[in-house]
Amino acid sequence: MRLLTMFFLLITVPLFSVSFYEIEAALDASSGVINAIMTVDWFNDTDCVATSVSFFLYPNLLKEKNPKLSNLAQSQAYPLGFDPGFISIKTVRIDNDEEIGYEMDKAPVLFEQRYSTENTLLRIKLPYLVHPQESVRLIIHFSTKFPVTSFGDNTRLGDVYIWRFAWYPVELAKQNTFAFKPHRWRLRLHLPEGFEAITTGELSNDGWIDSHIPLVSCPIILSKVHELYSLSDGDRVVEVYHLKGQESKARQLATYALETLKYYEERYGKLDYSTIRIVQDLPSGLFGMAADGVVLLGDGAFTTADLVVPGLIDPTLHFLLAHELAHLWFGIGVECDFSSANHLSESLAQYVAVEMMESVYGYRHNLFNVEIPDILVRNLRSQLLLDSWTEQAVYQYGALLRDGLDGPAAIRMGEGYYNSYATLWYEKGLLAMRNLEVGINKEKLQRTLKLYYERYRHQAVEEEAFLDTLFEVAGSEAIDLYTRLFKDSGPVDYDVRADANKVRIENGGGNDVPVEVFVTFTDGSTELSVVTGDATLTFAKDVAKVSVDPLRKSLDHNRFNNHYPRLIVNELDPSKGEKKWKTSVLDSLRVYPVTTLTTDASGNVVTLTGAGIECFDRWRVAFGAQLTLEMSESDLSGVRLARSDCFFQGWYKLNSYLQGSLFALSSTGNSSSFAYGFFKGEFFLSLPESLDFGYVAPFKVARWGLGCYGSLSTSGYGLGSYVVFDNTAITGSLIMGRLNLTSEGYATPTWSGLLEGFQGWRYGPIGLSLRGGAAFNEAVRLLDFDLSDFLPTPDHYVRTEGSIICFAQQSTRQTAYNLIALRGMGLSVKYGYLKSWSPAHDVYSFGMSIVPQLYTLMDSPIMLAFQFMVYSVDGAEPEMLVGIGSGLDDLIHTQNSMW
Ligand SMILES: [Zn+2]
Repeated sequence: MRLLTMFFLLITVPLFSVSFYEIEAALDASSGVINAIMTVDWFNDTDCVATSVSFFLYPNLLKEKNPKLSNLAQSQAYPLGFDPGFISIKTVRIDNDEEIGYEMDKAPVLFEQRYSTENTLLRIKLPYLVHPQESVRLIIHFSTKFPVTSFGDNTRLGDVYIWRFAWYPVELAKQNTFAFKPHRWRLRLHLPEGFEAITTGELSNDGWIDSHIPLVSCPIILSKVHELYSLSDGDRVVEVYHLKGQESKARQLATYALETLKYYEERYGKLDYSTIRIVQDLPSGLFGMAADGVVLLGDGAFTTADLVVPGLIDPTLHFLLAHELAHLWFGIGVECDFSSANHLSESLAQYVAVEMMESVYGYRHNLFNVEIPDILVRNLRSQLLLDSWTEQAVYQYGALLRDGLDGPAAIRMGEGYYNSYATLWYEKGLLAMRNLEVGINKEKLQRTLKLYYERYRHQAVEEEAFLDTLFEVAGSEAIDLYTRLFKDSGPVDYDVRADANKVRIENGGGNDVPVEVFVTFTDGSTELSVVTGDATLTFAKDVAKVSVDPLRKSLDHNRFNNHYPRLIVNELDPSKGEKKWKTSVLDSLRVYPVTTLTTDASGNVVTLTGAGIECFDRWRVAFGAQLTLEMSESDLSGVRLARSDCFFQGWYKLNSYLQGSLFALSSTGNSSSFAYGFFKGEFFLSLPESLDFGYVAPFKVARWGLGCYGSLSTSGYGLGSYVVFDNTAITGSLIMGRLNLTSEGYATPTWSGLLEGFQGWRYGPIGLSLRGGAAFNEAVRLLDFDLSDFLPTPDHYVRTEGSIICFAQQSTRQTAYNLIALRGMGLSVKYGYLKSWSPAHDVYSFGMSIVPQLYTLMDSPIMLAFQFMVYSVDGAEPEMLVGIGSGLDDLIHTQNSMW
């Protein structure tokens, strides 16, 4: 230690007026702990005399379990059961090795959670005063425990340790902000055999890694399993750390990274990291996380990226990386307060990434590579609805508005609803940035961003820094517009009409922001203007077409009324294929063919064929013929038309909580059916509640689902309702009930119904569940098998079931025939008992299921189980049943354990 300190003295020339952290750390892989001695040359950059120095102890936020969530819900984050992460301070000493006192406290601002907040601040009392512009040397001996989690950060999984920010005590930029104070650091690691360190900065011969510049943090990834692929374009070096066998993905990502870095550097200024490192993270999903000079990408960008159709999601990978790399300028490069001004990180990163994507891939179709000559891709192309980043943004923001979750794009942590933050910062923020571009012009916005980066890089700034830069480049009007776009949550909804040479534009929303208006005249010439609020434009020529905000560069959420004449895309006409492809579903009404095939109870094929019209995701109506075809078993050509009816279908969605539909069928006359009319209506209501999940703001979610349905025909009527109370996130329980009233041929109606309950618990890889239910006049079901073919429907029955499921998972995934990827396997053992009355039976059953944890295209999980059950009725010889499909218990446990 003495040697270390002496060596250190020689090089402490304060190049930057920032604190200097020197960390010598050793990893103990058996306990998941890093033991370290950190020497901080703390620099007083304030105007006041310092009597104490405070450090944020981030790892202690992971010490306690979230008390608001059930252990079932937490098992996704903790595959082996809850494992605390924490930091313990052993000693604090000052310059001359003398131990000094310190106290532990609660940090004044805690990023997002309201539990495990104790001991998150280390306050060191200085034995003497430190005047402005003076330094003091503090030596802190600490150890940090890495918890086993599937967060992808602040974690260890298998032989991989990852911690981006503050695994060591770090000073906050200001007492009441959640921004780390940039500091210069040197790091020397002592790692067990086989481990390699990935961090930022440069390694010198003596084993020290030096940041050279003040950084937000010293990110570390310690791994035994990553391999390196490195690529340089002469100016920049990109290193991709990937798992075995993923080198081709690493090569691809390296080229995206170099291309993106070059693009950004030309626009937003030079980076000063010598090397950019991209690391394959282990949890599934298409996610990314950025730190100084380091980007983590979810395993979805590697292991599962090429499943089914290799290359299909390439543009998405490019975007994912582009968003994270953008943080090296905005969010990390210029650090902002992540709890009060996170839009200056996320909205800016999203804006520059989408701007780059549009320049490379075009304004539409920049999510998927739909040019791949593959039949599946061609089918997808006819299905793909929202396939650009801006359509996604408009749609998601619109959905937020409909659900009553809207807020300002610059929402602060603690305001509004926690589950609206991501859409507000990323999607609404992206649209707000694009709208700012329309208002002040693109060149000025790009210049603002560049100046902001060059002036404030490697500093933690407040929102004023951005506003000052914006003011300097674009004046006070730009500030007013920024305020309207980011602080005002009033909606924007432009409407347009045209008559001869006049165009009338009206904003039905309360927030008047500038929009582009693209006019096409009858002679084929065009003109682009910018309008703010209600306006009438008069031209010298007659107007043929008008589009308000054609490139989705505003906060306008309702886009159907942005066009004159309104856009109607007729998909029934095959010659309009290209138009269908070029026009967004958000902007147009779609007329489309309806074709479905199902089978009825007697095995006949039922087909609906006709036409529909849809206003995307809000309402649709369809009508046509329903044909029932009877197949002759002996002769495949013997298809007979058994019935033909006319159908009408209507569907309406008010928001995520209230939806309804109506289906009507009437005989065409040439039917042998006894039913001459049939109506079926359904409506679904869920009740949103404001729930506390332990975070800084409540969530608005629905636990209660209610549904009603009714049918009426000449052969009888039926009424039904159901209720679901899904409380698995809080207590691990779920209750559902159903009640039906049916009348055949208008005879005395009969009631039937059931009530079921589920309770699940989770202890690391082991899950337990109990289920029970009671029913009357309902078909018999036991362990999710339908026994109605074997047992007559009783008047009443009760059943009880218990199961234990055990998961074996691997930290790295494996693919099978490029169709699916496998994380692990669950094996469940079940026992069930059912008792029925009139007729009276006792049924005992024993079941098992195998539940593979599978993922496919876009890294989406597949819920599938192979079930097996033996049962015995009244002690008779047991019978066996096998089936495919998830039981409720397997489904709930699997959903809560896939990561
Ligand atoms: Zn981001």
